[in-house]
Amino acid sequence: MDQSSTILTPPSEPREFGFFVDGAFVPAGTRDVFERASPGHGVPVTRLPKCTDADLDAAVACARRAFDDRRWSAAAATDRAAILLRTADILRARAEEIAYWETLENGKPIAQARAEVGGCVGMFELAAGLARTVHGDSFNNTGDGALGLVTREPVGVVGLITPWNFPFLILCERVPYILAGGNTIVAKPSEMTSATTLMLAEILTEAGLPAGVFNVVTGSGRSVGQRLLEHMDVDMLSFTGSTAVGRAVVEASGRTNFKKLGLELGGKNPQIVFADADLEDAADGVAFGIAFNTGQCCVSGSRLIVERSVADKFGRMVAGKLAKARIGDPLDEATQIGAITTDAQNDTIMGYIAKGTEEGATLLSGGTAPDLGQGQYIEPTVFTDVTPDMAIAREEIFGPVLTILPFDTLDEAIAMANDTEYGLAASVWSKNIDKALTVSRQVSAGRFWVNTTLAGGPEMPIGGFKLSGWGREAGMYGVEEYMQVKSVFIEIGKRDHWIK
Ligand code: NAP
Repeated sequence: MDQSSTILTPPSEPREFGFFVDGAFVPAGTRDVFERASPGHGVPVTRLPKCTDADLDAAVACARRAFDDRRWSAAAATDRAAILLRTADILRARAEEIAYWETLENGKPIAQARAEVGGCVGMFELAAGLARTVHGDSFNNTGDGALGLVTREPVGVVGLITPWNFPFLILCERVPYILAGGNTIVAKPSEMTSATTLMLAEILTEAGLPAGVFNVVTGSGRSVGQRLLEHMDVDMLSFTGSTAVGRAVVEASGRTNFKKLGLELGGKNPQIVFADADLEDAADGVAFGIAFNTGQCCVSGSRLIVERSVADKFGRMVAGKLAKARIGDPLDEATQIGAITTDAQNDTIMGYIAKGTEEGATLLSGGTAPDLGQGQYIEPTVFTDVTPDMAIAREEIFGPVLTILPFDTLDEAIAMANDTEYGLAASVWSKNIDKALTVSRQVSAGRFWVNTTLAGGPEMPIGGFKLSGWGREAGMYGVEEYMQVKSVFIEIGKRDHWIK
């Protein structure tokens, strides 16, 4: 980082990272190395080892030992909470550094990365409280001769596979709660964006987390990721990524040890706008919902379902808003829309934009890749004259591409919103509470927003219906997801003998 100037620049040399096992970094040594270039600048910024099968096995064995000897699971909740709170403090102190490396590898605007790290601090603080309040139940109504207890126990060794779109945020929506529950972890970040996961390992260690509780292997999904899915010593696998790989996760669990699964997968999320909405607010929200993180967001509001009487006007309002969003160097404080994270994703998005036109939709705005001299960027793009059967209206694009579909009745809006194999998130914009609540009840989505979008806090559970996944992350729902329930039935007094 250039400390001498207030304008951030990429590093002059890529930063070398090792992977992290048993409380220490392991340098790449003779292993192959992956060099990551900043998508916003096209220059190499990090170098990471490609872990081998033996490295993955060693990391799992280490997490297994750390779980089985109870160094973390048997620690008093007050001690676990203290470490989670210290982690929050260190994160706050190192927020700028984390945001910088997140921006370099991912391409998101630095201002957004800073806000995300701020949110992550809150997650560790909440998890510290939850570590102390998570509890079971008791049944004192089983007669004088018995007492029933229901206790919660950690699941064990958790494999954690995370994607490249929110490398640090998605990590911190899971790690504090997994640790609060007393589990140990082997994390496998996307090879594109591993730096901040490794930085978290360092921070947790500094905060006092015992060695072996949090381990990080680097390398590609197809190699170390797949081996983690299949590992017999991993008790639970938390996967965030595409629905296609999610299927592979389910299959691998079925083939091996039936490991418990948490899956957060794709989405094609509706934003339903009624004519009685505050259209100015709704236009800003819809623009934010599709352009935030360049639409590389599982919960991005990519299908605008708008009441026909205002559809043309509202489409122009959204396009007008998007035209004013500032696209630029992710390290520039003023940038709102950064770079597309991977070359493959850039090709996918441009492919869908071309396909939309070929299918007969009309490009209302955007559609081009601006040349900023370096890096890869795509303008927010809006299509009208879209029909529900078009690929751009059905498939997850994972980019800043909005399709507009008009509706006439409330029932039709709900049917259109539910006409998808996904069920991750949805928004409704209306000043009529009856309509808003009716839609919130009838649309199948794990997250629902009324007169806002992409909002919430660490207390709110996240996760999807249908092909968008299984289970819930964050808050108390997240802690409970990573715990087993045990029923303990206790006899009091002399047994009434079966064999007399
Ligand atoms: P992806 O290809 O499924 O990759 C996600 C993670 O899985 C990465 O760490 C990847 O590693 C790893 N991976 C890939 N193939 C694997 C395999 N065979 N076995 C084990 N791990 C494997 O998805 P992506 O392209 O990174 O992310 C985009 C998708 O994720 C979108 O569909 C999006 O909706 C979804 N997503 C969902 C959420 C949510 O919370 N619901 C959040 C973010 C993203 P490498 O990258 O190193 O290969």
